[in-house]
Amino acid sequence: MVDLKSQYEKIKPEIDQAIQDVVNSTAFINGPAVKGFQEDLEKYLGVKHVIPCANGTDALQVAMMALGIKPGDEVITTNFTFIATAEVIALLGFTPVVVDVDPHTFNIDPESVRKALTPRTRAIVPVHLFGQCADMDAMMQIAEEFNLFIIEDACQAIGADYLFADGSRKKAGTIGHVGCTSFFPSKNLGCYGDGGAIFTNNDELANQMRVVVNHGMTVRYYHDFIGVNSRLDSIQAAVLRVKLARLDAYAEARNHAADFYDNAFKNHPKLKTPARFEKSTHVFHQYTLVTEGVDRNAMQEFLMKKDVPAMIYYPVPLHMQKAYLDPRYKEGDFPVTEHLCKTVISLPMHTELDEDQLQFITSSVLEFVNR
Ligand SMILES: *Cc1c(COP(=O)(O)O)cnc(C)c1O
Repeated sequence: MVDLKSQYEKIKPEIDQAIQDVVNSTAFINGPAVKGFQEDLEKYLGVKHVIPCANGTDALQVAMMALGIKPGDEVITTNFTFIATAEVIALLGFTPVVVDVDPHTFNIDPESVRKALTPRTRAIVPVHLFGQCADMDAMMQIAEEFNLFIIEDACQAIGADYLFADGSRKKAGTIGHVGCTSFFPSKNLGCYGDGGAIFTNNDELANQMRVVVNHGMTVRYYHDFIGVNSRLDSIQAAVLRVKLARLDAYAEARNHAADFYDNAFKNHPKLKTPARFEKSTHVFHQYTLVTEGVDRNAMQEFLMKKDVPAMIYYPVPLHMQKAYLDPRYKEGDFPVTEHLCKTVISLPMHTELDEDQLQFITSSVLEFVNR
């Protein structure tokens, strides 16, 4: 699905030097590379505070710990996402409340959020799925009306721009009270191991999150809160500094591949190409087709045999996951998510796809659906 090796070959001297510099300095934890990356990312995102941490799941967990949400409180999120989003809610003893998505953008549906509100609701976690922002105007409106926190899961959308009606823009993850991202290698800004970060414009919240990631420690060896140990290590930060400088060019390459796919599948009766949401740019973490009247699993197998990887993101909605079964929910409650789980398929998407590869992938897909 991704070609990290070809990408590395192109930036090898810079990456190798950056890693060697960290090793030479032996400042493996909280070294200058971490501080440098934090500042680079704050500048790139136009956000006041970036708090680096160990991975995207921790980013979500730390954000929720710092916001003072209490066990039993409800946190609303989308039913169509990677498990981490709901996992941390459940792990902290909060109640995950899932809602359906928009059939075109695959993102959290504001009307469904309104229907799921109760007096116990404390926060909403919109996920900017596959690289495109959720409807943040609607999310912020609901948050204001009902005094809720918005935690953006921007793990798949770093670098995407949200476009406001007045013509202004903000980066994904910098609109709500807190934003979270992941630097997992296959993410749009991926390191060479695990990594993550939290964003906020709120000074007080930033301080609290810095305390939480560091064992709840305010003064050395004085622990006022129960925290966690969640750090981005210096080698990963050094790699990320090199790659952040190329993030916009990488998004462009992904968009080029997406346009090629769009063009090849345009108006095909059995393939629905991904819709572009008018309020967001798209950074194509995934290129996801909705199939119609196609044996989707057979299609995946057919492509695999031709060495074309294709993945199902995601095959099971959260409310049907064994660990998250909840008597409040049953099959059929979330028709859009359930339909998507049965019909979506994601094609290879990365920064190094060339015309020959794109041609081969699209003709293989068409060979299957047209036969
Ligand atoms: C990748 C991802 C996460 C978790 O990130 P990790 O770094 O793997 O912990 C959370 N939410 C979404 C939507 C993701 O895609």
